[in-house]
Amino acid sequence: MEYRYDYLIVGAGMTADAAVKAIHERAPQARIGIVGDDKHAPYERPPLSKTLWKGDKSVEAIDLGTKAVAKLHLGRRIVTLDRTARRARDDRGDTYGYRCLLLATGAAPRRLPFAGKRAIDFRTLDDYLALRRLAVAGAHIAVVGGGFIGSELAAALAGQGCRVTLLFPGAAIGAGRYPAALAEFLNGYYRERGVDARPGARVGGGRAGESGAELALADGTRLAVDAVVAGLGVTPNTQLAQQAGLAFDDGIVVDDRLRTTDPDIFAAGDVARFPCAALGAHVRVEHENAAISMGHHAGRMMTGEDEPYTTLPFFYSDMFDLGYEAVGTLDDRLDIVEQWTQPYHEGVVYYLDGGRVRGVLLWNVWGQVEAARELIVEPGPHDADSLRGRLPKLA
Ligand SMILES: Cc1cc2nc3c(=O)[nH]c(=O)nc-3n(C[C@H](O)[C@H](O)[C@H](O)COP(=O)(O)OP(=O)(O)OC[C@H]3O[C@@H](n4cnc5c(N)ncnc54)[C@H](O)[C@@H]3O)c2cc1C
Repeated sequence: MEYRYDYLIVGAGMTADAAVKAIHERAPQARIGIVGDDKHAPYERPPLSKTLWKGDKSVEAIDLGTKAVAKLHLGRRIVTLDRTARRARDDRGDTYGYRCLLLATGAAPRRLPFAGKRAIDFRTLDDYLALRRLAVAGAHIAVVGGGFIGSELAAALAGQGCRVTLLFPGAAIGAGRYPAALAEFLNGYYRERGVDARPGARVGGGRAGESGAELALADGTRLAVDAVVAGLGVTPNTQLAQQAGLAFDDGIVVDDRLRTTDPDIFAAGDVARFPCAALGAHVRVEHENAAISMGHHAGRMMTGEDEPYTTLPFFYSDMFDLGYEAVGTLDDRLDIVEQWTQPYHEGVVYYLDGGRVRGVLLWNVWGQVEAARELIVEPGPHDADSLRGRLPKLA
């Protein structure tokens, strides 16, 4: 089959959904197509490790409703892109002509060193459904990775009555991102809630069979479990951009209009590396707010608008009854100023570089994202004294 679209989007995630809605609003008659290798229509990813487990949201409710505005070609992967002919080809040989193209190919999870039905590299709705089937009360589940996904899944699985062993190579949950004492506090917080948190644990190998899995840890010990799920971070899906000769550097390189080195091809979301004026750097952000705001912006630019993308994306996470929103760079190698109203339960952590605020962690402090963004844009200089009482900013 040969399809022709005015606007073609590769990848069927949250970025694609935001883009097609922005395009449709501005060009309601335009033919818009999406090709995605996931068999499901675009859905919200964050609930996969949060609200779906608590029963606050149903699987049906995470569907973003994209099919109302675009033709979806699901379960298909674009394998080649011919920029001269303006044509993409999928893994079944069908082709898609376009006038303007968006690469919203996102990111792929880093994988465990072994595979099997009881070993899940967690990223998709099907991964959630598979884990849900395995997560019966009393099941022993190993969660590998102490970052966002690992810490959220460990809490979700403990909430299902599973026996959870959380393995991570660092000293503490979220180490490198949170201040050391907060990360250390989290180890204890998880243990108090029944999670066997094991710092310094590296998975060297293992196997997953029909009825269980066995992990081989780098220190020589072995761990037998009913199932294993990994949150080991992601790598951007740049293969197609590389094949098509577009610039890439840990992500597809775009300008402040989210345009790649081909003027008719844009990139946005987890896969795009963009210039962020507020942080004074090119960054790639793997968060929902970036996916939605960049997808929306790319859609506008594709329909002929011309404005720089200036959003400083925020992100958030939930761990049992702790939660936060954050803006900018959270890196414990920066200078850290901690201001707690209740130690490790409520407070604000600032990350500074030469007196300039580069990141703000709003720990159980809500409604302050805009104020945090304003602070990051300020040239400073700032220190603990000038920051005292800055956030929360009361309306
Ligand atoms: C479990 C989980 C929880 C999360 N929680 C949070 C959170 O609490 N807060 C937050 O801010 N962010 C969170 N995130 C991150 C957020 O969901 C992502 O940043 C966002 O979904 C990225 O959207 P995207 O469309 O850019 O990329 P993706 O979601 O990766 O979508 C891209 C799609 O394109 C497909 N694709 C790639 N190449 C091709 C090709 N050649 N042909 C066809 N299809 C292709 C991919 O397989 C994928 O389906 C979470 C992510 C996960 C997995």
